[in-house]
Amino acid sequence: MANINIDSRKKNTFDAIVVGSGISGGWAAKEFTEKGLKTLVLERGRDVKHIVDYPTTNKYPYEFEHRGELTQAVREESPIASRCYAFREDAMHFFVKDKEHPYVQEKPFDWIRGYQVGGKSLLWARQTQRWSDFDFEGPKRDDFAVDWPIRYRDIDSWYSYVERFAGISGHKDGLQALPDGDFLPAYPLNAVEDYFKKVVGSKYANRHVISSRCAHLSAPKQIHFDQGRGQCQNRVLCQRGCPFGGYFSSNSSTLPWAEKTGNLTLKPFSVVESVIYDDRLGKATGVRVVDTNTKEVTEYYAKVIFVNAAAINTNLILLNSTSTRFPQGLGNDSGVLGKYVAFHNYSARISAEYDGLKEFTKDGRNPSDGGYMPRFRNLLKQETDFKRGYAAGFNASRSPLRDTSGFGAELKAQLLNKELGPWRVGSHMMGETIPKESNYVKLDASKKDDWGIPLLKISVDYDDNDAKMKQDYIEQMTEMFTEAGFKNITPNVSSQAPGLDIHEMGGVRMGYDPKTSILNKWNQLHACKNVFVTDGACMTSTSTQNPSLTYMALTARAVDYAVSMMRKNEL
Ligand SMILES: Cc1cc2nc3c(=O)[nH]c(=O)nc-3n(C[C@H](O)[C@H](O)[C@H](O)COP(=O)(O)OP(=O)(O)OC[C@H]3O[C@@H](n4cnc5c(N)ncnc54)[C@H](O)[C@@H]3O)c2cc1C
Repeated sequence: MANINIDSRKKNTFDAIVVGSGISGGWAAKEFTEKGLKTLVLERGRDVKHIVDYPTTNKYPYEFEHRGELTQAVREESPIASRCYAFREDAMHFFVKDKEHPYVQEKPFDWIRGYQVGGKSLLWARQTQRWSDFDFEGPKRDDFAVDWPIRYRDIDSWYSYVERFAGISGHKDGLQALPDGDFLPAYPLNAVEDYFKKVVGSKYANRHVISSRCAHLSAPKQIHFDQGRGQCQNRVLCQRGCPFGGYFSSNSSTLPWAEKTGNLTLKPFSVVESVIYDDRLGKATGVRVVDTNTKEVTEYYAKVIFVNAAAINTNLILLNSTSTRFPQGLGNDSGVLGKYVAFHNYSARISAEYDGLKEFTKDGRNPSDGGYMPRFRNLLKQETDFKRGYAAGFNASRSPLRDTSGFGAELKAQLLNKELGPWRVGSHMMGETIPKESNYVKLDASKKDDWGIPLLKISVDYDDNDAKMKQDYIEQMTEMFTEAGFKNITPNVSSQAPGLDIHEMGGVRMGYDPKTSILNKWNQLHACKNVFVTDGACMTSTSTQNPSLTYMALTARAVDYAVSMMRKNEL
């Protein structure tokens, strides 16, 4: 009997365990396996093999039963996920069904989730901007949250490292607030986007419109071909999964790369219930996993554990990892675990029309989504009565005039009309929110999911700072649109719940002081050195830039550190 136990423990023992196979977990898997560590990746969802499991990728619109639209039944099954713009008939199979994965909303929060191998890396919009010291120094300068224990110089080379492998297109714009990276050629702006760039550049000293930086292979290099990926074909059907590997996903890039090393064991259908902490050894020894199909519970062991279940689920796992030493959740000596959750505020947009430049049209499809205005408010000095600021997307397009009011031959003739309408321009706000103790997640005391894991209770909301910032965005964009001669300027302020922007962060924040933070500067739990968190849960503040590139860089950096510590027997 004793031998059977020893054998089964040995069979379930790895050098490293990674929880979650999305953007950050995929990077952890790649880095560990490349460095020679036998690595177990545990993923709660099903497997999604690159190309093989992209069932809609080559479908024409008329091949979809509902021409891409959602039925009432689908909306009822997923009332939250179906609010996401990417949740359409062609990609809804990559989102969770809300009814199967309940959570408690103390305040309305749209939690958008993709439970499968690859996580949300299949669905993301691939916007990839570096952070700068305006972000890492933000909390200290503007007096909120706690000071980040790192600065831009700590992560600069790791950004380059992940950019080269993932393939990021962009211009070197030379902007202080948005450092340049190791880029593939940028996707060009179209005529009106370029016109707006010139207007803004000539009228405002510190405002810029640049080509969005995005994780697309505009001109692949050998390292991308070695991954089995090829040139982006500008199909802009990305959320279906790309058979060319034209954009970065765990499925097309990091996971197959890790698999090639022979060091990867990937276990789908394995939901991690908790991290096992050994009071006697004073460290974590492994994780407890529930098989999502059979509900059988298994323990897996490793010297180091990376929790990369995406920000909110990582909070859940740590909160649920209680022991004599950590009765409030793993590493939670300070009581801040689950608190200071923040997000991005995408709840304001503005649109307009432009009568000029009619000799031009949109030249093909642009997978990068056009222009990007890095944050300009409160950057060099505090100039408003709210803290921090926002970035803004900007794009312009023209479509044929389509009058659908007629019938029969008249309608057919109208639909075939190739005459183009005016340019339509649009922008959306990407606001930084301030992490607060009152924005938290915690375990529900009684309700559990189908796998016996406590449901998460989410209590997160906007505040007055967000309202003022939103108002300022509308005013500033209206002014810039007016300067550009745009007409019919229409603000659109939505009352959407937080969460729909899908950049939730925090709860397991980094900091210098174990009394006010959970992780140190290496993303390592202050109080349990062989557990690391490198997904959005680790973020001390949110910046305005899309966060995933920063998760990738932090992950590669943390694995490098963890392995160096392991080699010195210090983990
Ligand atoms: C429509 C959309 C557009 C987006 N656009 C952008 C963008 O342009 N730029 C950007 O930076 N970000 C964008 N994002 C956000 C981006 O997708 C996430 O920031 C990123 O995927 C986070 O990486 P992650 O590894 O933390 O989580 P994920 O990629 O979500 O992966 C987490 C994985 O963990 C698994 N998991 C969860 N709990 C457990 C458990 N208990 N046990 C085992 N496995 C578990 C999940 O199933 C999942 O596979 C977008 C997201 C969406 C949906």
